[in-house]
Amino acid sequence: QAKNAGRNTVRFFDPAMQLAASARAEMEVDLRKALQEEQLVLYYQPVVTANGAITGVEALVRWMHPVKGMVSPGEFIPLAEQTGLILPLGQWVLEAACAQLVAWSADPHTQRLSVAVNVSARQFRHPDFSTHILDLLRTTGANPYRLKLELTESLLLTDFEEAVLKMSELRSIGVSFSLDDFGTGYSSLAYLKRLPLDQLKIDQSFVRDVLTDPNDAAIARTILSLAKSMDLGVVAEGVETAGQRDFLLAAGCHAFQGYFFGRPVPVEQLQLRPL
Ligand code: C2E
Ligand code: MG
Ligand code: MG
Ligand code: MG
Repeated sequence: QAKNAGRNTVRFFDPAMQLAASARAEMEVDLRKALQEEQLVLYYQPVVTANGAITGVEALVRWMHPVKGMVSPGEFIPLAEQTGLILPLGQWVLEAACAQLVAWSADPHTQRLSVAVNVSARQFRHPDFSTHILDLLRTTGANPYRLKLELTESLLLTDFEEAVLKMSELRSIGVSFSLDDFGTGYSSLAYLKRLPLDQLKIDQSFVRDVLTDPNDAAIARTILSLAKSMDLGVVAEGVETAGQRDFLLAAGCHAFQGYFFGRPVPVEQLQLRPL
């Protein structure tokens, strides 16, 4: 028994850890099945101007688990990343997002909406990443100018030159790039300067206490002025109150995302108040 083996070895037999391991294994099997059985759904969160007019959406994947109900990406994206399942999963998300763009392109009220898709590290580092996107845009007929790809700082730091090449190739046909969760990673301004980016997203951790924490307020202002001088767009994430919006607006932010304007919802529930 683990208990008799002494304190130092107990952790190897920790029932909680065994449960975690088997729960993970079970989740991996379930996730494989989810991909085959179409249990994944894209939710969309509006990206809006200060007065609430929608300019685009961010696609956020949800897993409708037959037993557990709705599982959020924080719970399965890391596992998908570790197991490699992120490749088919990411491809599915991109296909669904492009299909949505094509559906919206037929209606003058929705044809200018952009869709932002989160791209994970392993997905972006795949040697055929750009080719996959180019093929997808060709086969679906989605407008590349409406597709935004969200990357994170950490993802860009490994193999920087390769990342720049991939981004440049896709940007040359109209795809744009956002740096997600900006300010939470470790990228230097020297790197930022050389990245072919279109937009920064102010991480919600700075927005949360922007009215009460002078440091968060300073960081938000700094990101906004940095973006302005580098000619980048900015979206503030996690805006939950009118007060936060007003502060950010006064600091020069013109695009917002957060529960104050709208939660992520299935496409049928989107309030499409166009520009
Ligand atoms: P993210 O890309 O930074 O997305 C923003 C997250 O903040 C979303 O969580 C969204 O629901 C949440 N959020 C939006 N507004 C508010 C607000 O006002 N307050 C608060 N507290 N939260 C807000 P979600 O949907 O659970 O996604 C979590 C993360 O999972 C995403 O962070 C993204 O990194 C990842 N993710 C989601 N979908 C995908 C996907 O299709 N592919 C990949 N690779 N990652 C994804
Ligand atoms: Mg994102
Ligand atoms: Mg984010
Ligand atoms: Mg995040």
